[in-house]
Amino acid sequence: MLAIYPGSFDPVTNGHLDIIDRATALFDQVRVVILYNPAKTGGLFSIEERLAMLKDATRDRPAVHVDSYPGLTADYARLHGAKFLVRGLRAVSDFDSELRIALTNKKLNPELETVFLATGLEYLFLSSSGVKEIARFGGNVQDFVPPLVAQYLRQRYLSQSVSVD
Ligand code: ADP
Repeated sequence: MLAIYPGSFDPVTNGHLDIIDRATALFDQVRVVILYNPAKTGGLFSIEERLAMLKDATRDRPAVHVDSYPGLTADYARLHGAKFLVRGLRAVSDFDSELRIALTNKKLNPELETVFLATGLEYLFLSSSGVKEIARFGGNVQDFVPPLVAQYLRQRYLSQSVSVD
């Protein structure tokens, strides 16, 4: 059985990897997909950089395939014949928006079932934006992200501070 795990992954954190591991325990194959809007150029990292970091972080997980898609989750699922969509839940604060997204996806693709997986306690307060905030001010992120991501973050903020000065 195939599941998709969509998100921005800007960048991937250990919290995402925890959800990926939980998902591969439930499903034979998991397609982790970076969804993006080609008309928008937001985000710290380009889609290519996010892909490189995700691929490196999951290289020892044969059931995981990493991908990107410039469109809707519902369409990506249909394209690959996936019937399950995985999302991670941290605190109650995630619930409102996640339920809204799940109901929207159900409307767009009634065959797609959203499966919520609860995060491990140690990742409860971990988010891509939090990690970026720490890295921006020179903090150590090595406990929160895979080694290559820590390297990318260091380089990105180093080059930004150099260009600002
Ligand atoms: P989006 O911008 O679509 O929310 P993210 O890349 O931020 O994409 O997150 C993708 C998914 O991973 C979401 O379901 C989010 O709730 C989940 N997630 C993010 N961080 C964690 C974490 N620390 N623990 C569990 N799930 C997480």
